[in-house]
Amino acid sequence: GGVGAKGTESGPLLPQVGAVIAIASGKGGVGKSTTAVNLAAGLVLEGLSVGLMDADIHGPSLPRMLGVKGKPEVRDGKLLPVEAWGLRAMSIGMLVDETQAMVWRGPMVMGAISQLLGDVSWGALDVLVVDMPPGTGDAQLTLAQKAVLNGAIIVSTPQDIALLDARRGVTMFEKTHVPVLGLVENMSYFCCPNCNHRTELFGHGGARDEAARLGVPFLGEIPLLADIRSSSDAGTPIVVDAPDSEAGRAYRALAAGV
Ligand code: ADP
Repeated sequence: GGVGAKGTESGPLLPQVGAVIAIASGKGGVGKSTTAVNLAAGLVLEGLSVGLMDADIHGPSLPRMLGVKGKPEVRDGKLLPVEAWGLRAMSIGMLVDETQAMVWRGPMVMGAISQLLGDVSWGALDVLVVDMPPGTGDAQLTLAQKAVLNGAIIVSTPQDIALLDARRGVTMFEKTHVPVLGLVENMSYFCCPNCNHRTELFGHGGARDEAARLGVPFLGEIPLLADIRSSSDAGTPIVVDAPDSEAGRAYRALAAGV
């Protein structure tokens, strides 16, 4: 991959970060956070220094997916990212009680996101991966405008409705002049762990066709696998837990291609 190595300069907000890459989806539940975590960990395996910022403030899942507990330290008035699996991670979920309902209004959302960008000692990074909130509402739009994103990756499942939402995501980034690096199809197919039979539960190739129609690159397919979910729930990304498994290989290919 060329990310970070390109030496693209993000804005003055994060002068020491090579590239800020958003992981977005048109709707929730398509595996956006799972993709963000495994892509970020995959980029670490590629030898890059990587930060992971959880901007999905209504449902921060990063602390659980990374197996991180406790509160981040504060040094010189800045929050220190928490180290996990070679990543520097920060999530609003590390700052507030996880059970606290995050029913926030627009300005509070932007305040929290500004804090994640500006009040965290990210240090020098090749790449900062940003797990965006799902959807294309005001918070997403403002984040796209303000967060000096160098590029966005859109995650979709193969179903038409999810693709329709993905299309909205592409439009949002185009409007804010953030280059869409490509589309990832998650839950592409199911591989039976017993007999290796491949089933295309939701049809196949939808995201690839849609990417072609939208004129954006197609970055790859991630299978629907029980191991992906169980590793996430256990707090170890599958790409770290089993880098040579089917899922591990799929995420490493994604990281190598970005
Ligand atoms: P989003 O961030 O889009 O809301 P998540 O990444 O939180 O979605 O994923 C939703 C659920 O689906 C989680 O329980 C996650 O472990 C599971 N999941 C995501 N992708 C896969 C996959 N490829 N195979 C199996 N489970 C997956």
